[in-house]
Amino acid sequence: MEFSSKLLEKAVNEMSQLPGVGKRTALRLVLHLLRQPESQTVQLAQALLNMRTEIKFCKSCNNISDNVLCEICSNPRRQEDIICVVEDIRDVMAIENTSSFKGLYHVLGGKISPMDGIGPHDLNITPLVNKIKEGRVKELIFALSPTMEGDTTNFYIFKQIQDLDVVTSTIARGISVGDELEYADEVTLGRSILNRIPFEGSLKS
Ligand SMILES: [Zn+2]
Repeated sequence: MEFSSKLLEKAVNEMSQLPGVGKRTALRLVLHLLRQPESQTVQLAQALLNMRTEIKFCKSCNNISDNVLCEICSNPRRQEDIICVVEDIRDVMAIENTSSFKGLYHVLGGKISPMDGIGPHDLNITPLVNKIKEGRVKELIFALSPTMEGDTTNFYIFKQIQDLDVVTSTIARGISVGDELEYADEVTLGRSILNRIPFEGSLKS
């Protein structure tokens, strides 16, 4: 792509670093911004910058938050003794949309994936195991995506806590294998949380 302006070229190149945005789309977006009032670009740039520099991770569940404790962990109406284990904030959002779950979450920040060089120590697993060792958690629900990496991660965590006094369950696999949790429709996901099954039972199936 030949540009008449280095400034334009730089903006397009930066925009096209985003996933799913090719050079053509990046050019379209940048030209759109140029046609809009300057204030719109300023607001966009400022929102991105503020998000990047000021965002926090909840001290308890590792969810993305504006405060030390996220809104879910600091809500006294949530059940503290049920924890749903998820990969990232998109899963929290998907499950929250179902309004079927009143417990808390624990966000791992990914799943074990040797192919991508992600081991258990790259994830937020130790704080979860420690929470369970403290004895305040009655039930742990595994809600990782039903992929090989998701299963590996579930099993790794399960091995560390199986002798502790906690019930483990997994969301029912109404969701087809390989699907990401975030794309499951809300009714299906909500139902699968309510109809969760014992984790050990899921290993045999
Ligand atoms: Zn939290």
